[in-house]
Amino acid sequence: MKLTGKLADRDPFPSFSPAPWIAVLFPLSLSPLLILWAGLLGLAAAAADGRGNSTEHRPVTPINLDLYHSSIRLIGEINDLVRRHPDKLTMDTIKAGNKGYRSELAVVTYCRGRKDVDSNSKFRILLSFGQHGRELITSELALRILSILSEEEFLDKVDTVSLNSFLDKLVIKVVPMENLEGRKLVEGGDLCERRNGRGVDLNRNWSVDWGKKEKDYDPYEENPGVAPFSEPESQIMRKVATSFNPHIWVNVHSGMEALFMPYDHRNTTPPGLYSVKMRSLLEDLNRLHCHNRCMIGSGGGSVGYLAHGTATDYMYDVVRVPMAFTFEIYGDGEASSRDCFKMFNPTDLATYNRVLSDWSAAFFTIFKVAPKHIDDVSSQVTVSSPKKWESMDDYLEGYLMERSSRYGKKMEVLDLGMQEIRTYFRLFLLSFVLLMFMFCSRISKSKSLRPSMPSISL
Ligand SMILES: [Zn+2]
Repeated sequence: MKLTGKLADRDPFPSFSPAPWIAVLFPLSLSPLLILWAGLLGLAAAAADGRGNSTEHRPVTPINLDLYHSSIRLIGEINDLVRRHPDKLTMDTIKAGNKGYRSELAVVTYCRGRKDVDSNSKFRILLSFGQHGRELITSELALRILSILSEEEFLDKVDTVSLNSFLDKLVIKVVPMENLEGRKLVEGGDLCERRNGRGVDLNRNWSVDWGKKEKDYDPYEENPGVAPFSEPESQIMRKVATSFNPHIWVNVHSGMEALFMPYDHRNTTPPGLYSVKMRSLLEDLNRLHCHNRCMIGSGGGSVGYLAHGTATDYMYDVVRVPMAFTFEIYGDGEASSRDCFKMFNPTDLATYNRVLSDWSAAFFTIFKVAPKHIDDVSSQVTVSSPKKWESMDDYLEGYLMERSSRYGKKMEVLDLGMQEIRTYFRLFLLSFVLLMFMFCSRISKSKSLRPSMPSISL
């Protein structure tokens, strides 16, 4: 979630310092009186300052290092976990960079009994955490989920046998810290930083509706970068998503409690059966794990602002992930907008544990029930009525998707701009029809004018 009304608690009473101009106006002989007067004015100014600057001077909450791992320790712990459970977990570190800026992403893959089953025959889930630097709690949740998957920690009231029966059918990829460079800035003291190491918001750098700016656009919060996928982190994520081709995508954030589905750049949800299933799943999660407190609906329709160039809209529209979500797992609405650690992360042990237990349970509910939702829709689509007439646009879109996925670059071609391709196709059809018309009319004309010729030349 981005900060809105960031300037709201700026100081309305600029501080007043009397000393310099008093020294110029009064001769030195009056210095004892001057000191007294300046002192009184100083006290009055300090009182005014105390009133007006109450939020400005309120101390901000530092990162609670008793609860939270540093980025290095968190990745280290995940590394150790992977090393202890080679039968279930593997980890890749993917690096990318441009123009002197580099980043790397750890991608952990969970797959029980990897050796006997082809991972393509399984149900695929992709989860990303820590896309925004200041949302530390999300990466803690990634570690908790991986610990439960490797059976070093356990969910309340869930036995391992029933858990394993549905985990056998899944391959889960987890990106525990998408924005490592931004996270380092937060750990260095810039507690409100959400962008990457060079100031780009990684959740505005994707190509769906990229670069559009709303009236409340604040570059400190949501700078989209110089072009779609200009950032190494987004390039790596796109590569992971298109090669893995997941059935479910969840982008995990904090700043509020919400369960969002597409779209972020419109205030509507998409049409179709998957949309119905997505909403139904979110309603179940809200009831079972969010104490009915979570906001549900399209990101753009619920959060109070439209977001352009987001990962979830790309996953849904371009990668064609059937169920794509953004979860917001915690927020302290009472915290001052300068107090970012407190606003985006639990600060006490009880809340920290409650958030991690509730949300890891929510993810295991997804692992259990979401494959059934997707199977339901695909069986309905397969049994569905005879193929209806399609519009030219639908046909073309389907054709392009099919072709591009055949070559393993699903929908990439659509990045070039569906609109442009449609326009060129229409122009091509129109000119073809015109040419045919001219050709036919010429033939019929020449037939009528041509004198009859003997069939054998002389
Ligand atoms: Zn966020």
